[in-house]
Amino acid sequence: MKFLSVASSIVALVSAAALSPREEKVSYDGFKVYRITTGENLASVQDKLVDIEMKPWNMDFSKHIDVAISPDQIEKFESLNLDTIVMHEDLGADIAAEWDSSTPSSPSKRAVPDVSWFNGYHSHNDHQTFLTNLQTALPQNSEIITSGTSVQGRPIRGIHVWGNNGKGKKAILIHGNVHAREWITSMSVEYFLYQLMTGYGRDSNATALLNTYDFWILPVVNPDGFVYSQTNDRLWRKNRSAAPAGSSCIGTDENRNWPFQWNVPGGSSTNPCDETYRGRTQGDTPEIKGLVSLVNQLRDSSGIKLYLDVHSYGQYILTPYGYSCSAVAANQAKHDTLAANTGRVIQAFSGTTWITGPSCSTLYATSGSSTDYVGDVGKAEYSMTFELRDKGTNGFVLPASQILPVGKEMWEGWKYLVANL
Ligand SMILES: [Zn+2]
Repeated sequence: MKFLSVASSIVALVSAAALSPREEKVSYDGFKVYRITTGENLASVQDKLVDIEMKPWNMDFSKHIDVAISPDQIEKFESLNLDTIVMHEDLGADIAAEWDSSTPSSPSKRAVPDVSWFNGYHSHNDHQTFLTNLQTALPQNSEIITSGTSVQGRPIRGIHVWGNNGKGKKAILIHGNVHAREWITSMSVEYFLYQLMTGYGRDSNATALLNTYDFWILPVVNPDGFVYSQTNDRLWRKNRSAAPAGSSCIGTDENRNWPFQWNVPGGSSTNPCDETYRGRTQGDTPEIKGLVSLVNQLRDSSGIKLYLDVHSYGQYILTPYGYSCSAVAANQAKHDTLAANTGRVIQAFSGTTWITGPSCSTLYATSGSSTDYVGDVGKAEYSMTFELRDKGTNGFVLPASQILPVGKEMWEGWKYLVANL
């Protein structure tokens, strides 16, 4: 398996506990982030890196490794003379700028939000106020939904919105921020929801979409991790499940925890300290339990037309399957045509380029992943993963000035996709 074979030697060096004290604020001041070119030199690059303490940002090392290097390791790292590009000269400074440029004020009470919401990143509490306020844009055609409760007791909220003739049409289910550090995802999902709800009755695209499907949209489905990424560690990925017996490492990768093909080797980790730790048993996190019951409820009622799990970064549109590079969905060809055409529509709008295709063979193997579950067990007709901007210039720490451009390009892409199912 590509993932384990290339990752094992480096992942073994990286102790999340060592780099991320659990309850302390992690500072990235002075960290540099590099993209190291690998390709056919991967093995020799990994040999050279064996003594460097580092925290990779990506999982498929076949073309490059993106790594944050601590100040005390930079000289040693640079003396290796690897082929690198600097992504962040000072990660701590870029994290501070990302936040400082955000909208300083909380959303006002009981007013439909305006587009200035998308000028900056926001706290989890403010995201909740945003949803409450946005629901008032179409009070007769929408409702606040809750898919469940997180480990730390936070409700996982979203909006269910529909068009003419009442609710109950086939579902379009979309969620963001299952991985905590991928902040652009909740903002983009919210922009889509905002365009739908404020455009209904005024914009012909929004109106047609809402008159055809019911939309179930949950911007932040890993609230504890999301909060932790804002209060303690900007690079936190997993949820905040307690460390299992015998380990001091907190957190399960929610996108390896879905109860479908969970046990397939090579697509997740059984080590609680790894970023892709799958959990003790399949579906054992409360966040995934809640999403599973929402998916099953939609399957058994209206049915699911399309499911989108939104991530960053890399600019990929991924179709089934993650657990196997040879399994093929019944409508695989239509999936892949839709993904490719959606990529072209976005490129025509903003110039960003997209790699599209089946998840395992295009990126890497993932077991217990959302799109496999929702496609197979949830019987969604279409099930896809999006990896939003960028392609490695900023990675997870995408400047706030890109929120609106990303929101706009994804509105173009997703409205095309939904209209062409
Ligand atoms: Zn992700």
